[in-house]
Amino acid sequence: MSTESFSQDKLSFNNLSKQESSVINNKGTEMPFTGKYTTFYEKGTYVCKKCGAALFMSSSKFKSDCGWPSFDDEIKGAVSKYPDPDGMRTEIECANCGAHLGHVFTGEGLTAKNVRNCVNSVSIDFVPAQLEAGRYGTAIFAGGCFWGVEYFLQKAPGVISVTSGFTGGHVKNPTYEQVCTGNTGHAEAVKIIYDPEKTSYEKLLRLFLEIHDPTQVGRQGPDIGDQYRSEIFYLNDDQKKIAEKDIALLKEKGIKVVTAVTKASDFYDAEKYHQDYYFKNGKTPYCHAYTQRF
Ligand SMILES: [Zn+2]
Repeated sequence: MSTESFSQDKLSFNNLSKQESSVINNKGTEMPFTGKYTTFYEKGTYVCKKCGAALFMSSSKFKSDCGWPSFDDEIKGAVSKYPDPDGMRTEIECANCGAHLGHVFTGEGLTAKNVRNCVNSVSIDFVPAQLEAGRYGTAIFAGGCFWGVEYFLQKAPGVISVTSGFTGGHVKNPTYEQVCTGNTGHAEAVKIIYDPEKTSYEKLLRLFLEIHDPTQVGRQGPDIGDQYRSEIFYLNDDQKKIAEKDIALLKEKGIKVVTAVTKASDFYDAEKYHQDYYFKNGKTPYCHAYTQRF
């Protein structure tokens, strides 16, 4: 494991679910044709689920019919290769944190590069942006209609991408209509990918607490329902500590913050027409505004 090329070596590792950990830490393999990125071909970059390092560009992804995401190249220096204990295959790991990714095969003649990095979907995360190299942070916030939260956070310095979606509930792959019923347990939320050299988790968290009203219960402005609740979904213990500290700071100032602080669970991207809604439609949010609180 080498962190020399990454200046942000203090960025914490993300907590992993049981299934993620069994693959990433214990070198397991997800069932073929079950991963979320097996037949996914959006333009962007795939980063390490554990540490956020950029690993593969979408331009190297190809259809292989093997049941796992396949890449015929990696971002230079991002992936380490080791002989697998089975004596036959070559294992691939995140060069930054050692997360198990899968195996690499050569000589199959599937692409001109003649390489297939066979990667578990649970080992990677997709970012809809072209990242060169380095390590990226993730933050997940819910604060009412995700169009408005996305609008403000997308404009913050150091933010690479903001994806609107749903999290915190019990229904797999929910649709917007399902979430709108208020019965899925999910909140409308945003997933932010940021560059830790240009911003920090705390800066983004404070901005989040200033662009929505963290004192409202089960609603945000005109949007009423549990799916519009205020909630911070932390990915690691450092994020949890920062969130609790900043909420305590606001409470000391007499602001009755009700924002929940909850361990992150599966995040489901919302339908495409919800992404970058205000930017695409040339409008400004009706439900969110900036108020200085820190
Ligand atoms: Zn990693």
